[in-house]
Amino acid sequence: MWLSRLTFESVQRMYQVRYLSRSQLETQAALLLRGELSNNSTMQIDDAFRLKDELRQLTKLKEQVERLEFLECHMGDYYRQGKIPFKAYVDLKNGNRHQEHVVELCTAIRNKPSCLAEARLSRGDDLNRMMDKYLEKFEDKFFKPRFNIVAPLPGIRCEKSDDGFKLTMPVDGSAADINSAKIAAQWWSSKTNKFKFEVIASKQPNAIKIQHIQSGPSHVNMHERNQINLGPGLSSPLIIAHEMGHILGFPDCYFEAWDKASESFIYIELDPSGSNLMCNINGSAIVPDHYFEQLKASYCN
Ligand SMILES: [Zn+2]
Repeated sequence: MWLSRLTFESVQRMYQVRYLSRSQLETQAALLLRGELSNNSTMQIDDAFRLKDELRQLTKLKEQVERLEFLECHMGDYYRQGKIPFKAYVDLKNGNRHQEHVVELCTAIRNKPSCLAEARLSRGDDLNRMMDKYLEKFEDKFFKPRFNIVAPLPGIRCEKSDDGFKLTMPVDGSAADINSAKIAAQWWSSKTNKFKFEVIASKQPNAIKIQHIQSGPSHVNMHERNQINLGPGLSSPLIIAHEMGHILGFPDCYFEAWDKASESFIYIELDPSGSNLMCNINGSAIVPDHYFEQLKASYCN
């Protein structure tokens, strides 16, 4: 949501890699500030209205800088993530069948010398077979887990009836936040899947707390899953709906890491539909049908 796009030009495009770097943000900011915005430290309302597009872009840049600062603070984590070759994976999926990408994928599964040896012996169709083999192994190990529920959370109750399934989540927070959470719950309800998700206000110890943090992005600690932490300005129902997904047990289905090759942070959305709520928080975000099936299977059996 907060990243600008450098994209593949390919027609059969499925996945995009987006880049975030300080130099790129500085260049964009410098361009914006070169015009009228640079002359005005305070602004009349008429000017602000006239320059509203520039101001909006500047606000977006500010969000990106804040995100970048957060990423830099957690550099160790993102550096380690960068060792998982998702970039090679999406490049192969997008049809760029380079041998070195196949070796990279293989190296995430086996040791590098044996991958290099296997690639040397594989030519033409053999290389395609090697690619298919490691694409499958890579997906099982790194890709599929990002779309699967980790475990049900005790405290969330399921009721079955003739109308279908109903999950109830107790929530503890301010009246305004509980109200937003109730709106957010609509993302996790689906008539076609006969699934209803309901938020009820509660002060019980097992209630999910909603709290506001001073800095950083909204998040849920996936080991505890007992609290939704909302970052400054990041508390809309849509964002709460995404965080609720974590409480229910779904991981993020985007990949974010430090990319040595481009010396920037990369961001790859792993669902090519572009509308999976757990991969992307945009206006068209929805919960895919198979998520409801997983909820039924893990909470209602
Ligand atoms: Zn998330």
